Amino acid sequence: MKSAIYPGSFDPVTYGHLDIIKRASEMFDEIIVSVLDNKNKTPLFSVDERVKMLEETTKDLTNVKIDSFSGLLVDYAHSINVPIILRGLRAITDFEYELQNAQNNRILSEGSVDTLFMTTSLEYAYLSSSGVKEIAAFHGNISKCVPPLVEAAIRQKFPKES
Ligand code: ADP
Repeated sequence: MKSAIYPGSFDPVTYGHLDIIKRASEMFDEIIVSVLDNKNKTPLFSVDERVKMLEETTKDLTNVKIDSFSGLLVDYAHSINVPIILRGLRAITDFEYELQNAQNNRILSEGSVDTLFMTTSLEYAYLSSSGVKEIAAFHGNISKCVPPLVEAAIRQKFPKES
């Protein structure tokens, strides 16, 4: 069975992530979307909340599983025996950072873990979780960026003052 890990912060999941997940699920037997529990970042949503939103928004994709991990990605990849990492690329700015991570992961894993890149669908090229949070903080319209259940969850984090 060909599986791949799609790791990320997913704080929160956007239509950009979901587009990559859906397209990847058609190429692999199994996609493991894994939420990184990064102790150095202060996320808007807890790991549990992020996992639940991913589970809900991918429930129609039967070969997609949701998981979480902390620590080194290559250690996680080895622990579940999946040597392929999937990352999405939006623009050249993503590329520099992603290339460095991919090379580090190859070195750390002594060549046993490889990274594959998928390019964004053009309509999502400017979509990022941090952009969505910035718009939501000022109560702007995010309905084109995230599914309704994610939008509702973000709205709860930024309630309008009455
Ligand atoms: P990070 O893991 O760097 O914190 P995210 O959780 O936001 O980033 O995203 C996880 C992965 O999805 C990364 O590879 C990122 O480049 C990719 N990604 C994020 N938004 C989009 C988008 N709109 N289109 C394609 N790929 C995306």
